Amino acid sequence: MLRVVLVILIFISVTFSKTTNEEVWPRGESLITFLNKQHIQKDIYFNLSKTDKELCSEIEAGVAYQIMYDKENHLDHVLIPISEEMQIHIYKNGEKYILEIIPIIFESITDILTVTIQNSPYQDIIETSNNKKLANEFVRSFKKSVNFRKLHKGDKIVIKYIQKMRMGNYFGAPVILGAFMKIKYKKAKYIFQNPSDGRYYDINGRSLTSVFFKVPLRYKRISSKFTYKRFHPILKRYIAHLGVDYAAPRGRKIWATASGKVIFRGRKGGYGNAIMIRHSGGYKSLYGHLYKFNKKVRKNSWVKQGDLIGYVGTSGRSTGPHLHFGLYKNGRAVNPSKVMSYSKKTLSGKSRKKYLKYVKNLKKELNSKIETKEVQFNIKPFKSYYSLDRNTTIKS
Ligand SMILES: [Zn+2]
Repeated sequence: MLRVVLVILIFISVTFSKTTNEEVWPRGESLITFLNKQHIQKDIYFNLSKTDKELCSEIEAGVAYQIMYDKENHLDHVLIPISEEMQIHIYKNGEKYILEIIPIIFESITDILTVTIQNSPYQDIIETSNNKKLANEFVRSFKKSVNFRKLHKGDKIVIKYIQKMRMGNYFGAPVILGAFMKIKYKKAKYIFQNPSDGRYYDINGRSLTSVFFKVPLRYKRISSKFTYKRFHPILKRYIAHLGVDYAAPRGRKIWATASGKVIFRGRKGGYGNAIMIRHSGGYKSLYGHLYKFNKKVRKNSWVKQGDLIGYVGTSGRSTGPHLHFGLYKNGRAVNPSKVMSYSKKTLSGKSRKKYLKYVKNLKKELNSKIETKEVQFNIKPFKSYYSLDRNTTIKS
């Protein structure tokens, strides 16, 4: 089955490469307004399941998408990414259009980057790896523990990370598994991402991500859990739910999960009345199906954790009153339940033990990069270098 899908996708991408236009999704455009412009019947959207409607509202302004027209200038195919791993595929089948959600094919590369400081970590990481997002994530994750102004030429950085690749280009945001900085006359500073919660901690299990998230309402039960791109064997299609649905009576208060800036307030397709808040650490939160907003909370407002932002409802054609709550890290949906279950500044007990065990080998691996590269460093002084021990796994 997977192979068939793969062949079809390769076929699509080959035929696409000939006549496809790459366009940028405009601000304010929704799938509905897009279908209107293309003169496509809107049933293909309205007949979707509740979760697929929500997925169609995940399209972000500014995302590049591929579109192909036929000879009569009617839409033939379009591929619109909705996450790093999934895309909306609309195509003409006879007189009718079909909408489906299909995976994006990419490679996942685990790499270790070794950098010798010449200018600044940000600049040097970009020069060595040509990866701006990696430089951003590195600076963001280290700025709590290292004063970047006190670095010297010749200080070292080692980063182990996962980067998605697509058609030879970096794709999506890199994930730093572990990294350290060796600053002259000082002990090495480490950060590691804890696989249990996706947050950064130091070598002793102290959290380096300052933002903590709280459940945004008093709910009755979780009516739908978070699922990230899963192939449903009976429905024979990909299903995903990029958030948690909390069932609660209409009008129940919704609070900001953490402090931040409101970046969206309005209608958001399948999410109905929605609010989005940007938090520190590269996080964003989404609240959907609201009955109404707190009028004081507008776009560009700053809110504190626990501030009232709106009320539970059923807007956006959802079944019963509930809150759809989504959390995103660097644009990628993460499981809110998992992220929220960790709310301590320092790991303790079993979770600390597990973390320290995990970190032990990773630390050894990172350290070995500097020890073995020291020789090269003597031969090529003041030059950055890029290690190439890659292990590649194909994901689909
Ligand atoms: Zn939902």
